[in-house]
Amino acid sequence: MLLTITTTRNPATDLGYLLHKHPAKVQTFPLTAGDVHVFYPEATAEKCTAALLLDLDPVRLTRKSGPGGNDFALEAYVNDRPYVASSFMSAAISQAYSSAMNGRCKDKPELVDVAFPLEVSLSVLPVNGGEPLLRSLFEPLGYEVDVQAFPLDTQYPEWGQSRYYQVTLKNTLPLWMLLSQLYVLIPVCDNDKHYFVGSHEIEKLMEKGRGWLEDHPANELIVRRYMKHLGPLTREALGLIMKDEATPEEVEEIPEPAEKIRLHDLRLQTVRDLLLEQQVSSVADLGCGEGKLLRLLTEKSVFTRILGMDVSYRSLEIAGEKLKLDRMTDRQRKRLELIQGSLLYKDKRLSGFDAATLVEVIEHLDPPRLAAMEKVVFEYARPSLVIITTVNAEYNIKYESLTAGTFRHSDHRFEWTRPEFEAWATEVAGRFGYTVTFRPLGEWDDAVGAPSQLALFTIDTA
Ligand code: SAH
Repeated sequence: MLLTITTTRNPATDLGYLLHKHPAKVQTFPLTAGDVHVFYPEATAEKCTAALLLDLDPVRLTRKSGPGGNDFALEAYVNDRPYVASSFMSAAISQAYSSAMNGRCKDKPELVDVAFPLEVSLSVLPVNGGEPLLRSLFEPLGYEVDVQAFPLDTQYPEWGQSRYYQVTLKNTLPLWMLLSQLYVLIPVCDNDKHYFVGSHEIEKLMEKGRGWLEDHPANELIVRRYMKHLGPLTREALGLIMKDEATPEEVEEIPEPAEKIRLHDLRLQTVRDLLLEQQVSSVADLGCGEGKLLRLLTEKSVFTRILGMDVSYRSLEIAGEKLKLDRMTDRQRKRLELIQGSLLYKDKRLSGFDAATLVEVIEHLDPPRLAAMEKVVFEYARPSLVIITTVNAEYNIKYESLTAGTFRHSDHRFEWTRPEFEAWATEVAGRFGYTVTFRPLGEWDDAVGAPSQLALFTIDTA
């Protein structure tokens, strides 16, 4: 997977200053699933080419995404990901060229906003939607687009064209803008499941799209594909990016994925309502992420002690910002506390709460570590009430965009059907002296149930 950027603006080696990469060196940067190499096949005053080679390791890639299962069990091992430019290319660009993409140039800052004649070559780019889509994405931004399609198999021409293209793009524009556009549009072409998921994607998209995405005629498609698998976020992003064009009602109708209500909000509200119903006053939200449930809880004064714990420092930082911790009074801060910790280790700070919640957390743990979590929650922390929610794998067939055998989220280590979840929870409840009941979460479907499932454990008092 190769991305080259060439300029002919004399002295063309200025490209090296802009990219913060010396033309005489080969440099390597690590990614979670491979390495990125940057080197210059050509560097003269007349013409300079920087090449970015993305070398993904299929084995590391598989470990990251989990082996999948079901219909095509080998999908995680046999796929095109290591060989094509996809969302990993965006990660590579932001890893290797971050200063350039953010418009910084240490030695020649005056060059940052200069429009350079630039030629980009990408091989190979998977394009769902083929040449017309590719043109509709790049031509409105002023690119001259040259496309070479590859047949699926040269021996069998009747099989037609593959979705892989060798693409050349030419335009005259500042380098930071070119990189931002590639960062957003490469995964949009691919439209496969992205490895990146998280609400900060909206911020990234807004930042990278500044100055060109607002007025792009295909901006709705771009946002929708970029935010793929982040249904609710897509709506939020569309609302933010296409300020005046899309009314909230129109945005609400976006069919991908087919979620009429924001599933995650529904989950969180259900959890809060259950906690209210059960009349608990102190709650530990374990794996609190960016603090969405915590926020709902702080709105109700019956909750007098609220703890958010997560293993991810970054998530806690975001939670702190969203909950405006820095603007709280001492009293408010006594009520709400955020701590970094892991569900896999016994932790005194988790004792003494009426209730513990794990909302969409267990599927992020490796199955062999579940036993450690069970002890931490049900034996050591031992609140009278535990609420655990997880996705319902049976519902996945309703997500058209989800390929069989893949998970809803790239960080999921497993996804359980209703019988699997119920069997696990019932065994755990029995072992630790709890009684468990189940309920569906989200819109009900007779065949496959609801998109998510919830288990409510109450401690046996007798
Ligand atoms: N409960 C939140 C976040 C769910 S995402 C919500 O509903 O919005 C799963 C969260 O579990 C992530 O924030 C992740 O950092 C956290 N997590 C994963 N492994 C963990 C562990 N071992 N201990 C604590 N948190 C963990």
